[in-house]
Amino acid sequence: ASGSDENDVVVIGGGPGGYVAAIKAAQLGLKTTCIEKRGALGGTCLNVGCIPSKALLHSSHMYHEAKSTFAKHGVKFDNVDIDLAAMMGQKDKAISTLTKGIEGLFKKNKVTYVKGHGKFLSPSEISVDTLEGGSTVVKGKNIIIATGSDIKPLPGITIDEKRIVSSTGALSLTEIPKKLTVIGAGYIGLEMGSVWARLGSEVTVVEFAPDIVPSMDGEVRKQFQRSLEKQKMKFMLKTKVVAVDTSTDIVKLTLEPSSGGEQSVLEADVVLVSAGRNPFTSGLGLETIGIETDKIGRIPVDERFSTSVNGVFAIGDVIPGPMLAHKAEEDGVACVEFIAGLHGHVDYDKVPGVVYTHPEVAMVGKTEEQVKELGIPYRVGKFPMLGNSRAKSIDDAEGLVKIIAEKETDKILGVHIMCSNAGELIHEAALALTYGASSEDIARTCHAHPTLSEAVKEAAMAAYDKAIHI
Ligand code: FAD
Repeated sequence: ASGSDENDVVVIGGGPGGYVAAIKAAQLGLKTTCIEKRGALGGTCLNVGCIPSKALLHSSHMYHEAKSTFAKHGVKFDNVDIDLAAMMGQKDKAISTLTKGIEGLFKKNKVTYVKGHGKFLSPSEISVDTLEGGSTVVKGKNIIIATGSDIKPLPGITIDEKRIVSSTGALSLTEIPKKLTVIGAGYIGLEMGSVWARLGSEVTVVEFAPDIVPSMDGEVRKQFQRSLEKQKMKFMLKTKVVAVDTSTDIVKLTLEPSSGGEQSVLEADVVLVSAGRNPFTSGLGLETIGIETDKIGRIPVDERFSTSVNGVFAIGDVIPGPMLAHKAEEDGVACVEFIAGLHGHVDYDKVPGVVYTHPEVAMVGKTEEQVKELGIPYRVGKFPMLGNSRAKSIDDAEGLVKIIAEKETDKILGVHIMCSNAGELIHEAALALTYGASSEDIARTCHAHPTLSEAVKEAAMAAYDKAIHI
């Protein structure tokens, strides 16, 4: 451990916010220690979030393709089967390789790694109950809180991680449930629902709100929901869960319309509670140094990521803004740049969001609804994947690209993509938005043929003039 040597920077939490901040600080020549209680680096994202979910989405997609589309491509098997333990093993291997990779990066960059639970003694001293037993005090001129977020429980529903699971339990089920009910139609619920639906579960998604994924452009959302329904996922929108009975072999959920009305009962083998995440500051001793959280538990910060206490900063899921790994990383870099006397900047309006289902849905900037509400005159350019030769050649042509541009200046305001690999395609749009590009700028950029990215170019052509292939 770092003992009582004073650090320039101490980071509490080794998730994507914290570990990236620690490495960047060390790269800027600051003496840095990172404290993590989990026993592994990478935080929620790497251990129980982004990475394991993407591993299972990929594995389950391969199974689904093998079963339902390979024959069409002339690839034939006698039998396709699932070895769930092997699938989970592959996911676990991905996690352990990546967490060890971050430990390697810490060594390479000379970041001191303290394994244990950190708690403020003062604004510059953290007491750590170490995982090996005992405690130590880590001192720092600057402290960065990067303690992330945790599962949001629902009142009256006890998560046992076996039959009533959070996303963490849903990433490690040992059997494929016959019936899976997902409470909450956010991206985590839809991704995990997709995994198990592809593996054979009957999946029903119950959502209080009238729509799935509220941050999504309405038109894209409609197509997306239809696509998931084609994959046999059922949706019960404007519906709330009022009681859960686990007293028998099968879980019984009592449902009611969100606005009240007649109740119904839904049976499930496993229930996934995915109704959001709460900022995590439990046991951190914020009260000792006088930091107060807002109504929903987040730590307020200014544009330099500084809290109300001098020398104490906060980044990632524990502060306001999109609760996403890449946003946490951007926060981490910018925060450390400020500490080092440089200038940092994160624009939360240009943080891409991706739902990693099949097809994927990716977005950056504003939705059409938001642009309308702001009263900005706009034009929309759309291009369906059906007109894209690469998508057709691989028989994977569901979805569209939609570009919203300011009417007067043609400046791009928002881009929404639904197709396989949308999560990769969106970055051209993120770059365009960052540079204040017009749809004509994208349309006049030569795109390689045949690629899915040509659909972005064609949607841009449609926004300022006309597309060719439709
Ligand atoms: P975290 O990753 O939560 O890390 C905080 C760390 O701090 C934890 O490891 C915790 O153990 C540690 N800690 C907390 N308190 C203390 C303490 N007092 N002392 C020491 N250590 C402490 N985001 C995406 O961008 N893309 C995705 O595809 C995606 N998929 C997801 C799928 C799931 C199932 C889930 C649950 C989340 C997903 N997310 C995804 C969200 C993403 O995981 C978070 O936004 C991201 O991890 C936030 O990073 P962070 O560093 O702020 O916090």
